[in-house]
Amino acid sequence: MRLLVTGGCGFIGANFVYMMLQKHSDVVIVNLDKLTYAGNRLSLAPLEKQHGGKRYHFVHGDIANAELVAHVLAHYQIEAVVNFAAESHVDRSITDATPFVTTNVLGTQVLLDTARRMEIPRFVHVSTDEVYGTLGPTGKFTEETPLAPNSPYSASKASADMLCRAFFETHGFPVAITRCSNNYGPYQFPEKLIPLMILKASRGESLPVYGDGLNVRDWIYVLDHCLGVELTLLKGKPGQAYNFGGNAEKPNIEVVKTILAALGKPESLITYVKDRPGHDRRYAMDYSLAQRELGFNPEYSFEQGIERTLAWYRDNQDWLESVQSGAYRAFMDTWYGER
Ligand code: NAD
Repeated sequence: MRLLVTGGCGFIGANFVYMMLQKHSDVVIVNLDKLTYAGNRLSLAPLEKQHGGKRYHFVHGDIANAELVAHVLAHYQIEAVVNFAAESHVDRSITDATPFVTTNVLGTQVLLDTARRMEIPRFVHVSTDEVYGTLGPTGKFTEETPLAPNSPYSASKASADMLCRAFFETHGFPVAITRCSNNYGPYQFPEKLIPLMILKASRGESLPVYGDGLNVRDWIYVLDHCLGVELTLLKGKPGQAYNFGGNAEKPNIEVVKTILAALGKPESLITYVKDRPGHDRRYAMDYSLAQRELGFNPEYSFEQGIERTLAWYRDNQDWLESVQSGAYRAFMDTWYGER
């Protein structure tokens, strides 16, 4: 299969590219990535060395550029698209929603439109549990839960989901959607909770925790999400959205304390900061549809996943240094400085 992966230099995309090339000897991947602050070509440098120009091709560009997308689809004779490319950080969407609408909504529409015109027979759009909004202390999101996004980020992702739905209903375009809970694992940019806490704890810096720390997330090891995307690509029904979760619901404070304990650091490093506006209280995923239709089951427990993640960040200090540009530091200082 000749596959276009967008956003392959980001966290989940990079893990997916590695996994697919390792698992499927007949897969060729073209990675279209704009290399925003969150995209790091270095993450895939070993692949470029091993498979570059053969089973792996990198194209630097924007999914919202229709001409470029059409060229890539034709030139590489693409048979399927997996769209990971996005602006993905909720805090940044609160500061400025514009890039979220441009990439997540307009970019997805350009990809859908171009792929439809060129009759690409498979398209997987990677979405998130955040499109469903927030839950009370009980219950889980199913694929039937109405979309009720609360942040500019999740609103842009929900808009893209609606476009996917419309392309299926209007044009019969074979797009399937994945909606997954919070990912963690190697190559995650250190602005998200788990790598941020690992980074700060290992430096002995204070760990900023929003509000009372009791917001609950379902945590999934990134390779389990990649498995879900792979199964959707290979077996998913066109027009269908599939939920994926990791079976690991935890309040943020528990995740932070687990990291501190594993690194032998004191809980006194925790600093509670002013809550994020519109902060969803709890997410939980019912992924029984993916279990039934796709045979999906997460393979990593939270304990296994967090152990692997800690080991990866310990052994990849160079990567961690390389992604922390001046722009990253400036954002982190302003954002957490104000809170
Ligand atoms: P990320 O921010 O780490 O990576 C995004 C990648 O997309 C980067 O490489 C960036 O350079 C690229 N990109 C951004 N705008 C682009 C554009 N206009 N054209 C081409 N490339 C562009 O994100 P991630 O955490 O890997 O998330 C990937 C996808 O999975 C996103 O769609 C996100 O909404 C979804 N998702 C993430 C999580 C999570 O916990 N991280 C959970 C569920 C769903």
